[in-house]
Amino acid sequence: MSTIIEARNLSRFYEVRRGLFAEPATVRALSEASFRVTQGTTLAVVGESGCGKSTLARLLTMIEPPSGGELVIDGKKLGATGHADLKALRKTVQIVFQDPYGSLNPRQKIGAILEEPLKINTDMPSRERREKAFDMLIKVGLRPEHYGRYPHMFSGGQRQRIAIARALMLDPKILILDEPVSALDVSIQAQILNILADLQEELGLTYIFISHDLSVVRFVADEVMVMYLGRPVEFAPVEAVFESPQHPYTVALLSATPVADPRRKRQNIKLEGELPSPINPPSGCPFHPRCRYARDKCSDIRPELTLHGQTLVACHGIEEGWIDYAAEPPPPGAALSGERAGTTPQAPDAAVRAPEPGSPV
Ligand code: ADP
Ligand code: MG
Repeated sequence: MSTIIEARNLSRFYEVRRGLFAEPATVRALSEASFRVTQGTTLAVVGESGCGKSTLARLLTMIEPPSGGELVIDGKKLGATGHADLKALRKTVQIVFQDPYGSLNPRQKIGAILEEPLKINTDMPSRERREKAFDMLIKVGLRPEHYGRYPHMFSGGQRQRIAIARALMLDPKILILDEPVSALDVSIQAQILNILADLQEELGLTYIFISHDLSVVRFVADEVMVMYLGRPVEFAPVEAVFESPQHPYTVALLSATPVADPRRKRQNIKLEGELPSPINPPSGCPFHPRCRYARDKCSDIRPELTLHGQTLVACHGIEEGWIDYAAEPPPPGAALSGERAGTTPQAPDAAVRAPEPGSPV
């Protein structure tokens, strides 16, 4: 399988002023992120709000140039200086945003919304554009008569279908999905995730699926990248992240996620303290002020991503073996929360592949 996206030390900084007379400060929204994505697969990017997920999305969609590092997309290299053929490359990568209400122009009919990318980027004749828009409506589970309606006539789930259809009009290879279901009801989330899965299979798409919610990620991702304060701290196949999370931050995120398999005992690390500011990130390991395993080294030296089993993890404690989750007694609350989750009537698989009641919502 071939690599379709490669990021090497990708960074994005913003200069900000925190007051009229204040010195400008630098927000390190994304720092030295390196990763690869295989064509036709889904990489989930997870982490708390403010950790740099949307910044990464803007770099991948070429809405903004990186401040440092390099991106190779579909074999073409882009650096801080851009790329000669950005226009062609922009068609390859399309984005779907979280807010299905804000992302569609309320004055345009659905047909015009879908055809706009073709109008701007191709010289396709209007009849063909129209046909393509109709085809795409069907593909995302809408109906031909929706072509002439306005966005306000649709529900949130339907609007997100329209946003997905619009993103696909230029036949992209890569879709960046920035919290695509976070604004939707849980029942609707499953429908949108199903549609995305079907489209991926049919069209061979590569997804970057951004979410703050690990429970959603589990059923869409092939690989997961966990970010903390603008840096990837763990990168692994999805099963590895859920079965043997390595970074204490990943373990903490999982502790806050309902357990899918009640037989599995899980460490229960509570995330304490606030997420520090990316203007003044902590020295050494960015997670050390919130990490209960932290030692002196953690505040002095920033750990690099190193391979541990199937997982790339940036943690001195894991690398040097002083963190051993298996050796710890399960915390008092762990079994309890496991049982409770086990009695949840919906198996997560069933939730995602649930039959969609009635017509598309
Ligand atoms: P996420 O999507 O994970 O919530 P973002 O990528 O939106 O995070 O933001 C990462 C950090 O960068 C945040 O601290 C945010 O305030 C800051 N940031 C994002 N965009 C800008 C900008 N244009 N100017 C200044 N700071 C920004
Ligand atoms: Mg965001």
